[in-house]
Amino acid sequence: MTRPRRGSNETANRQRPVEQDDLPERAVKGIEAEDDLRHMTRALELARQAQEQGEVPVGAVLVGPEGDVLAECGNAPIASDDATAHAEIRALREAGRAVGNYRLPGTTMYVTLEPCPMCAGALLQARVARLVFGAPDPRTGACGSVIDLLRDNSWNHRVDVEGGVLSEECATLLREFFAVRR
Ligand SMILES: [Zn+2]
Repeated sequence: MTRPRRGSNETANRQRPVEQDDLPERAVKGIEAEDDLRHMTRALELARQAQEQGEVPVGAVLVGPEGDVLAECGNAPIASDDATAHAEIRALREAGRAVGNYRLPGTTMYVTLEPCPMCAGALLQARVARLVFGAPDPRTGACGSVIDLLRDNSWNHRVDVEGGVLSEECATLLREFFAVRR
């Protein structure tokens, strides 16, 4: 008796046409750009909420492979007496708990500010597929500004990076926050 090998089934599944493949590439890109704007707008709301709590205004949204929102978090190191409580780390923790796995393949992280080295490292650890950030961070940005951890070929995982989505809005929020504090 010949049992089909598991591998051959997987190949068959992968070859089955999916809806998106039928759309012209530009249409798919358009949908992606729309999603990017929507999720970044939500991240901006979370950043404003963090600001109301006296935190540096940064917000993050983690979206699953099917487009479902897994976590929405603002920056909270002051409130939680925790230097690691950046919006991205909090979102990874929340999503990991929600799906019961510390690895989150196929997910997209939306964050209003370019991640720092700690958060960029966490994105690699969690196997996040894509990062979309708003404003670049010339002081501690680890995704192209100061250093570039995510496009380094030394790691066994790579994260697709897209910066500059609603960057003006994201940067203005931070500028106003620091202007008031000075
Ligand atoms: Zn960070």
